Amino acid sequence: MKAILNGQVYDPLNGVNGEIRDIWMEDGHIIHPADADREGADVLDATGLVVMPGGVDIHSHIVGAKVNAGRKFRPEDHRDHVRARTSISRSGSGYTVPTTHLTGYLYAEMGYTTVMEAATAPLVARHTHEELDDTPILDTGAYITMGNNHFIMNCIRDGEREKARDYVAWLLEATKGYGIKIVNPGGVENWKSGQNVGELDDQVIGFGVTPRQILTTLAWANDELALPHVPHIHTINLGQSGNARTTVETIEALEGRRAHICHLQFFSYGGEPGKLPHSSAAQVATAVNKHHKLTVDIGQVIFGEATTMTSDGPLQYRLHQLTGHKWLNDDVENETGGGVVPVLYKRGNLFNAAQWITGMELFLLIEDPWRVFLTTDHPNGGPFFHYPYVIRLLMDRDFRAEALARLPSRARKNALLQELDREYSLYEIAIITRAGTARALGLKNKGHLGAGADADVTVYEPSDDREEMFAHPRYVLKDGEVVVRDGQLVTERPGRTLYVEPPYDQAIKADLRTYFEECYTMSFDNYPVSSETLCNGERIPCG
Ligand SMILES: [Zn+2]
Repeated sequence: MKAILNGQVYDPLNGVNGEIRDIWMEDGHIIHPADADREGADVLDATGLVVMPGGVDIHSHIVGAKVNAGRKFRPEDHRDHVRARTSISRSGSGYTVPTTHLTGYLYAEMGYTTVMEAATAPLVARHTHEELDDTPILDTGAYITMGNNHFIMNCIRDGEREKARDYVAWLLEATKGYGIKIVNPGGVENWKSGQNVGELDDQVIGFGVTPRQILTTLAWANDELALPHVPHIHTINLGQSGNARTTVETIEALEGRRAHICHLQFFSYGGEPGKLPHSSAAQVATAVNKHHKLTVDIGQVIFGEATTMTSDGPLQYRLHQLTGHKWLNDDVENETGGGVVPVLYKRGNLFNAAQWITGMELFLLIEDPWRVFLTTDHPNGGPFFHYPYVIRLLMDRDFRAEALARLPSRARKNALLQELDREYSLYEIAIITRAGTARALGLKNKGHLGAGADADVTVYEPSDDREEMFAHPRYVLKDGEVVVRDGQLVTERPGRTLYVEPPYDQAIKADLRTYFEECYTMSFDNYPVSSETLCNGERIPCG
């Protein structure tokens, strides 16, 4: 039996807004205070402290083939960023692409206890799970990329929507994935012929389908399978001036279905293609505000080093050409592609300044905090451990004005951000960093402190400097055990891998066996990841 007593509790899913409450825990779960056996309980006094559920990150690239390629590709990222082994923890290194253990430690030390890996190609899901198993403390899950999948595009061309749905269910089971990820639908396939898509009704070469059809079919399948999360969408034209138009068109194409658009900042630019962008956050935020079943995360840019890594192959080539930085390109047979390019976001660079402004404006213009979440699209917009800095920008308008004043005057001129006075409250921060993300993920035991929730709890010491407050929690508990004290790791424990296994018509397996014999270099029998291979798996129910 454990308790955190007299804390000022922010638990938005249960409507608790800063009231003084006691939190009781047993066997890794929160229990009702009336059910607590108080005698001999292990008690933490939280008088004067702020108590929230553990943080839940909805979009971060932390493990798997692409992230590991980034690690190998960037020795310079590791050289000056090393953490030594201690009696309780392993060594690690890396600034924008930290090693698995260091990733777990850094997230926990920031008060986060659940993190979703944002993109895994199905064929390399095994690698993702090996690294998730090797990432301590955090509960995790992986989104599986399907937006350029040959089998799905064949089904769409042949008008076999139900077959596509059954395939999606099989693929999630085979990869032990958590949700559907769509990246530049059709564009990654076209990149294999040196091209891309620029409009939702462009053709995918060799398939005769369109990005719009891929988006709507997968959004329909997601609803049919009653997956806990929604389709997680990186749409077309990422990073291009004027892409706000196709982003709004993507939102409209979803026709009110449940969906999540990730790192929206990279999709919210005005301006002419090929010229400098400016923020079109107002236009995109208006569309988000109108579509009530849509959630988004921001992908805020942080000035400094970052490593871009995405399945969006053509984007990575363009970024390599723009920056002259080294570039890695990848093709995953029948499924997807990808690339890695290091970048340096500079305050004095007009493009980067516009990106920073766009992200801030989206945070402040999207009205419902339950539908907008804090991310940096780690490590694409910058490393995740800068979240406390972003929280301070959102909570402190003077601090934000100072940061804005340091941008080039040409970038600031006409920026709507100068007029936005909104300051996030602690309650709203609790929503955009844990309660809202847990709800969007359909994780009923995460992001809140009601009876039955996982005993993942973060205790902060209040400070006017919100960055300091959120960077160094007083305590972090995972499954009821104190893992961080005064901002420092005190013990290590394994996390769980969350996955789904939606039911489907098994008849599709015969088709798939033939398909694998014709198209894959890997055999059908060797492809699936079995649940026994996960060290610590937890199946999350559908429906
Ligand atoms: Zn991402």
